[in-house]
Amino acid sequence: MEKIWLTNKITGVLKQRDPVFRRVVVTEILSIINDMKRRFSRGANRAEALHKVQDEKTTEAITKHLMVLSCKAGCNNCCHQPVILSNDEMDLIESKVDLSTLDKIKMEKQRDFTEDDWKHRPKSETACVFLKDNACSIYDVRPATCRACVYTGDPEHCLPSVGKSSIIMEAEVVASATNNISEPDLIPIKILKRLMSKAESL
Ligand code: SF4
Ligand code: SF4
Repeated sequence: MEKIWLTNKITGVLKQRDPVFRRVVVTEILSIINDMKRRFSRGANRAEALHKVQDEKTTEAITKHLMVLSCKAGCNNCCHQPVILSNDEMDLIESKVDLSTLDKIKMEKQRDFTEDDWKHRPKSETACVFLKDNACSIYDVRPATCRACVYTGDPEHCLPSVGKSSIIMEAEVVASATNNISEPDLIPIKILKRLMSKAESL
């Protein structure tokens, strides 16, 4: 079976399941990747298409499983977790946001964070660079990792020090496909690399 990158949540689920279930999940991820590669070249359009599929599958699953989410406007403890971003998603965000206006000092600090730093640093230091006035400033184009992040319990558990969230496998499968399709990296690392390559090309 082909080696592919999986979200942490899928990795956790697979540890408790048999190899047959793993094959089903990986086959589904590869099928989404192949379909997207056939229909789109790399870039913002492909990220948008994947996000659309993910949102549809997430809504279907929430309805099917009668999930009552605690997520609401202004709730942002999950935005203090390390978040993965693909190259296609970087292209999409860059089409909406001037990356040079983002807090470079914060991103340079976060680039060097260990797992413990993400869990125990003050909230002001772990906040995502896109979190403004307690809300996501790029909500419509937020990464697949964020789209898959929902919770039915106490939002305080979504802080990195606790690290809980609900698992919607359908959303995780598409998030895995999104990140496999074009080089995943943490948000601060991905943005700093993009800024550096733009500076070098001047
Ligand atoms: S995942 Fe948690 S912190 Fe994020 S919006 Fe939902 S309940 Fe709030
Ligand atoms: S991109 Fe938006 S939703 Fe995702 S962590 Fe950053 S602020 Fe939160």
